[in-house]
Amino acid sequence: MSDRKLFIDGAFVPSSTGDSFANINPTTGAVIGQVEEAKAGDVDRAVQAARAALEGPWGTMPQAQRLELLAAAADGIRRRFDDFLAAEIEDTGKPVSWASKIDIPRGAANLQLFADLTRNIANESYISDTPDGGKAINYALRQPLGVVGVICPWNLPLLLMTWKVGPALAAGNTVVVKPSEETPSTATLLGEVMQEIGMPKGVYNVVHGFGPGSAGQALVQHPDVAAITFTGESATGQRIMADAAPTLKPLSFELGGKNPAIIFADADFDAAVAGTIKSVFSNCGQVCLCSERVYVERPIFDRFVSALKAGAEQLKYGDPNDPETGMGPLISAQHRDKVLSYYELAREEGATIVTGGGVPNLEPKYAKGSWVEPTILTGLSDEARCVREEIFGPVCHVAPFDREEEVIDRANDTEYGLCAAVWTSDLQRGHRMAAAIDCGLVWLNSWFLRDLRTPFGGTGASGIGREGGIHSVNFYSELKNVCVKL
Ligand code: NAD
Repeated sequence: MSDRKLFIDGAFVPSSTGDSFANINPTTGAVIGQVEEAKAGDVDRAVQAARAALEGPWGTMPQAQRLELLAAAADGIRRRFDDFLAAEIEDTGKPVSWASKIDIPRGAANLQLFADLTRNIANESYISDTPDGGKAINYALRQPLGVVGVICPWNLPLLLMTWKVGPALAAGNTVVVKPSEETPSTATLLGEVMQEIGMPKGVYNVVHGFGPGSAGQALVQHPDVAAITFTGESATGQRIMADAAPTLKPLSFELGGKNPAIIFADADFDAAVAGTIKSVFSNCGQVCLCSERVYVERPIFDRFVSALKAGAEQLKYGDPNDPETGMGPLISAQHRDKVLSYYELAREEGATIVTGGGVPNLEPKYAKGSWVEPTILTGLSDEARCVREEIFGPVCHVAPFDREEEVIDRANDTEYGLCAAVWTSDLQRGHRMAAAIDCGLVWLNSWFLRDLRTPFGGTGASGIGREGGIHSVNFYSELKNVCVKL
């Protein structure tokens, strides 16, 4: 049993109200610890500690030293790689093959990238003519926003948290992190790393809890929180936007998706199949970038569906610590029930269940875990709810298409716009498709290749703003123009 405390002002502390909740391992359904729940009072303590750090050691520290500390935090994650890995797997049930290659290395890489990148950012400046025939120089001064509230989901807990904390700290802010109630552990472990590397107190704080009436809402509504960066469901984003309105904070939103994968008949068939198996089933389908709508050009439709079915049926599920395991459980019993309700809805809507559609037969020790089968659907209309709503599980609907213009229209017929994967050997068509699909990120003949310097974010209900590289640093900075008459 590992209990998770709040991390406020450099120390691990209990909740001031005595509230706590259970941390459940979704692989077995076992309670693995208690988590202290922060309410408004604890959030206020964390925000005040973060403010004090801004006015004190962190705010006055030379940039080079600040960035060295951030790089030291990245090293700290690498040094304690196994602890982070074990904690992430215990909280989420994700397979070690994924977590050891993606979650934990990216946790360290996110901090490292922003330590490196921020050292090398040039400040914008212009020399201009003045009415008296002289010159003026304008330069943009980059200043921190203040205390940044960081609200995270459960699907990639350390990865998505450090994706925000890295640039926020690099830009000189302090942070109060609200991890998902489902995954409290790695944010807490990062608190230990911060202690180990001598990070000044109050720079990095963690408040555990839920959304409404708990730590999340208190953070959003706090008048001394200068900005909120949030990754999660689109509906939660709407609620956060409304709660933030009275204090007029800048918001960065990375939200849901219903991403298309489009496979043309001229694509490298095997690569497209392997890539689509990854883009549908990775992390048990719980990546915002996963494909839930697969469109396949009609001449290869039947063959593609058969190959996808074979791939799905080969995925090994079970012990997440077994390197051969390809599928873990869903994050919680509640989420499993939601995904299973979509499997049921698919039947009601008239889908053909090509494979899956239920709960797998596993050893008795997993009976209380949150398992579902990888599932492939066909035969639904574009209007079906299963084709329109984000399910966020290991499931996709595969539909045939005949023409490029047609598939563009169908891909764009959604309120979301996060990403798309296009598989074709026709380079010109690939670029045409990339320009025509309304979303923030298009992969051609690939999926989930990430260069952390590139803009990342969604259109429509998939988000507001772009993070990544300089785009993150810009969000977490206040740019002040200074005009000097020469
Ligand atoms: P969620 O919206 O339920 O919760 C996310 C976080 O918000 C949690 O920490 C939760 O406690 C908190 N929260 C909930 N209500 C709140 C409120 N009213 N005020 C403040 N905080 C509140 O999302 P989730 O279920 O944890 O994550 C899955 C969702 O995240 C999916 O929709 C997925 O597509 C999306 N996601 C998007 C991206 C992206 O980059 N676009 C990345 C990962 C996940």
